[in-house]
Amino acid sequence: MSAFIPLSVPNFGEKEAAYAAEAITSGWVSTSGGKVTEFEEKFAAYVGMPRAVAANSGTSALHLAAMAAGLGPGDEVLVPALTFIAAVNPTTRYVGAQPVFLGCDDSLCLDPAAVEDFCATHCTLQNGKLINNATGAHVKAMVVVHVFGNMADLPRLMALAETYHLILIEDATEALGTRYTSGPYAGRAAGTIGDIGCYSFNGNKIITTGAGGMVVSNHPDWTEACKHRSTQAKADMLQFYHDEMGYNYRMTNVQACLGIAQLERLEDFIKVKQARYAQYKAALDGVKGLRILPFRTDCTRPNLWFFSLYLKDSGLDRDTVIEQLQAQGIQTRPVWALINEQADYPKNEAYHLEKAEDYRRYIVNLPCSTNLSEADCQRVIDAVLALV
Ligand SMILES: *Cc1c(COP(=O)(O)O)cnc(C)c1O
Repeated sequence: MSAFIPLSVPNFGEKEAAYAAEAITSGWVSTSGGKVTEFEEKFAAYVGMPRAVAANSGTSALHLAAMAAGLGPGDEVLVPALTFIAAVNPTTRYVGAQPVFLGCDDSLCLDPAAVEDFCATHCTLQNGKLINNATGAHVKAMVVVHVFGNMADLPRLMALAETYHLILIEDATEALGTRYTSGPYAGRAAGTIGDIGCYSFNGNKIITTGAGGMVVSNHPDWTEACKHRSTQAKADMLQFYHDEMGYNYRMTNVQACLGIAQLERLEDFIKVKQARYAQYKAALDGVKGLRILPFRTDCTRPNLWFFSLYLKDSGLDRDTVIEQLQAQGIQTRPVWALINEQADYPKNEAYHLEKAEDYRRYIVNLPCSTNLSEADCQRVIDAVLALV
């Protein structure tokens, strides 16, 4: 029996062990010790921002971003229906706001046409505020997720944000390393273009600190607000005065060491993603109705975080494929159930879901770890080809 091939697992080696050992032997294993600041600085330099603020997860980073953006009770937020639920809960319910769910385009990301249609036909601009005609609520922001590392259509979404006075929150948790190579944002990284952007270092992401997150913003005071709230909103270090309700969303020194090591390896990880993606594409794309979904490469360098096998024209059933591969020790998964169908959100508005429903039904994500060998990738390919 050949070894199990997981979907997406951490790639740790000697560098991570050595850097983490520094923190452990020094005794600085909690939230002090200097490595968090070093990781923040190195991360900021990598994405090309003056400052980055570490958090203990992508979810807490998104919660800090929603608070920095001033979202609260009475506000509505445009969010994608096809995404992980952590893009939605922290930016809406955690702060008392409500989501309006919108569909995706063929990048799998929030569809600018759906945003435009919702704003133009369901809302009215009143004194610089976009008001939802049905609810009377202030539609204050949109959350743009760069799904699977594929850049959303930011030139159009940024223009809509400006027209309709919407704050643009980038959920770049899956897209560290993705950047524009041409167009109006040439050279800019995913997460650095909207008002505020968030990243995750969960175990399945392209780099990991076990768990962790980061926030960057084009508003320096928002970045500082995130730092402040992530550290209990302490106004005075000695006397323990707190000037508002804060949180303990801090990263540890050990995690930061892991992050520094992983960041040094990120570009090499992307090279592996490129090789494996090309291998899947050459062997499967166009074969008996199978497709490997494309990334936006005309104007971006994507990080190629997750690979999508699209089954619609192959006649194969998603869940059968997943089961049959699982029986051969190959882990795959469907794309997320739409968020508007989840327990917490049955009453929220949802529009233009056709493509989201289609991709939900026909995508199987293939193994894509940065330590996936060429031989194991070939085993996945052979197993898929045996099904069609
Ligand atoms: C992973 C992920 C998050 C949350 O990150 P955690 O670090 O797991 O809290 C949020 N949004 C999206 C789209 C993600 O993929």
